[in-house]
Amino acid sequence: MTLKVINNSDSKTGEFPCVTCETNCCKEYTIFVNAHDIYRLHQKLKKTPKSFLDIWGAKDFDLGIKVKEGLLDLALKQKDGGCMFLEESKDMFRCTVNDFKPSVCKSYPFQMKKGKLVQMTEKLCPVDWDTREFESMMSTHLKKDEEEWEFYDKLVLEWNEKFGEKKSLSEFLKFILDRVALEEI
Ligand code: SF4
Ligand code: SF4
Repeated sequence: MTLKVINNSDSKTGEFPCVTCETNCCKEYTIFVNAHDIYRLHQKLKKTPKSFLDIWGAKDFDLGIKVKEGLLDLALKQKDGGCMFLEESKDMFRCTVNDFKPSVCKSYPFQMKKGKLVQMTEKLCPVDWDTREFESMMSTHLKKDEEEWEFYDKLVLEWNEKFGEKKSLSEFLKFILDRVALEEI
């Protein structure tokens, strides 16, 4: 099915376009996650991080996680050619962790440019979103998102310097969860 370009502010059906989107971003992208994303999923789902995380080779040598298992990045697991949290029923799609989904999912397909909310230049999303509707909510979210990634990058650097490949991925996960928990107090 080819998707029409819909403007979110004047959709005739009143249906949110993501619900019926088949070129779904949740199928096409690998969702890399940071410490806060992992913490929220772990807390809300009451599941071990390893049950929803996939291990990838590091994209960025300097910011990859150094553990016994190698130089890694962490992303959400996939299932049936899409994110494991994507549920399909009668051609409708739903994120089963919508209230606490990773920050990159929340912000897609927007970014800030010169202090203004814009759609990403390189996006596979077929919808022409009216950014004015999201400006306030998204600018707050994108700022928080940036801070959480900065926090995570610092944690990875600290871990690599202190422990590196001497310790395992399980130990790294415990380290980041403890540090986010400390922040939350
Ligand atoms: S953000 Fe775009 S690509 Fe992603 S589900 Fe919604 S309409 Fe589809
Ligand atoms: S967590 Fe939800 S929004 Fe993010 S990729 Fe998975 S199904 Fe899509």
